[in-house]
Amino acid sequence: MKLNRRHFIGTSAAAAASLSAPMVLADGHGKPRVVVVGGGAGGATAARYIAKDSKGAIDVTLIEPTRMYYTCFFSNLYLGGFKDIEDIGHSYGSLAAGGVNVVHDWAVGVDRDAKTVSLAGGGSVPYDKLILSPGIDFVDGAVEGWDLSAQNAMPHAYKAGSQSELLKAQLMAMPEGGTFAMVAPPNPYRCPPGPYERVSMVAHFLKANNPTAKIIVADPKPKFSKMSLFQEGWANHYEGMIDWIGEDFGGGNVSVDPNAMTVTIDGEETKVDVCNVIPAMKAGRIAEIAGVTDGNWAPVNAADMSTKADAEIYVLGDASQQGDMPKSGFSANSQAKVCANAVRGALTGSKVFPARFSNTCWSLIDTNDGVKVGASYEATDEKIAKVEGFISKTGESADLRKATYEESEGWYAGITADMFG
Ligand SMILES: Cc1cc2nc3c(=O)[nH]c(=O)nc-3n(C[C@H](O)[C@H](O)[C@H](O)COP(=O)(O)OP(=O)(O)OC[C@H]3O[C@@H](n4cnc5c(N)ncnc54)[C@H](O)[C@@H]3O)c2cc1C
Repeated sequence: MKLNRRHFIGTSAAAAASLSAPMVLADGHGKPRVVVVGGGAGGATAARYIAKDSKGAIDVTLIEPTRMYYTCFFSNLYLGGFKDIEDIGHSYGSLAAGGVNVVHDWAVGVDRDAKTVSLAGGGSVPYDKLILSPGIDFVDGAVEGWDLSAQNAMPHAYKAGSQSELLKAQLMAMPEGGTFAMVAPPNPYRCPPGPYERVSMVAHFLKANNPTAKIIVADPKPKFSKMSLFQEGWANHYEGMIDWIGEDFGGGNVSVDPNAMTVTIDGEETKVDVCNVIPAMKAGRIAEIAGVTDGNWAPVNAADMSTKADAEIYVLGDASQQGDMPKSGFSANSQAKVCANAVRGALTGSKVFPARFSNTCWSLIDTNDGVKVGASYEATDEKIAKVEGFISKTGESADLRKATYEESEGWYAGITADMFG
């Protein structure tokens, strides 16, 4: 066909439009709208990637109550004296400058028919796609004698910030030769090696400042992540300081008395000076309110992190039940990028890549003694499935352990830049 000028202008304009303007699936209103609840490892990453990659074609609103996000990752290093609290705090200014509408408020309700999220401060925000990454809450009554009203006497420090500062202050105020107790959580929970890295960091601090102090760990599990690596490290660096009482020795039969500052393990009561209670966990409450959990966690489809309960609602990170990935910041960040790509594809027609995930969890045992465990994953019809993994070995050289620690420093800088811009 010979093109006349009019026809040429018409077709090229249509072609240009199809290149520049996205296919907008906005349900009769202007731009498609994505609302993200929770500005942590999963939520901040998802919000940033959707805003950045859609180049303004999607309205992205992030709802997060805190003005400053303190990473749980490296919060144990703060307890050990390797980091200051400022080192693990991040604000939301760069995300806002990058095009994300940051609303500092609590999401308190989700109307799945009207597709709105209501806020504690009043009003509601409409969405076409809703991404929830609220992290964890604690299971009521999980540790006899403990509830949230006891978190000042017996901190969990499993949401970082003021709780981490409180636990550090209590550690510093311990009397000479005093006792630090930890009640470890049952599976599944946020950061499988987290409690044991914490024991290591507390031991590191006490060895330097209070060398006759003792650490007792009551654990409902028979074994834990990187167990042989931690136990080797504890024997090498902190001999005789740490008493780990696993399930086989009654570690799961625990109650605490926050007024008397006692811990009772399998019928034996001990007076302690600091008690770090890390209760059983479940998805952050807003996931339950949205009706997308099984009572504890939110089952999701591995290909895009959409929930089994509602195709327009996605759950990332710790709150999700996805299969083989551990609940970690690295995992949440990796899942967020898969989800962001899928959500953008669904709303604008952009290319969606096959879901691939990865995770590494580093832990510091003592100065320059870093260990790691990690794996790559893919999406199957049933779950996020592990493809292959790796783990540090006992007896590694000091040089390799130092290099592993330095790698974790690089990872921290990278992931926080990836989350917040
Ligand atoms: C001691 C410790 C050490 C750890 N170390 C590591 C590590 O070395 N590497 C690693 O990868 N991971 C580590 N983790 C795990 C990591 O912190 C979590 O897995 C990760 O933060 C999960 O991301 P998330 O987005 O699911 O939740 P979070 O990062 O906790 O983010 C949830 C956000 O949602 C917000 N929120 C909750 N409810 C609402 C609501 N109703 N409305 C609005 N906002 C809401 C919260 O304020 C919070 O900011 C560690 C954890 C702990 C406790």
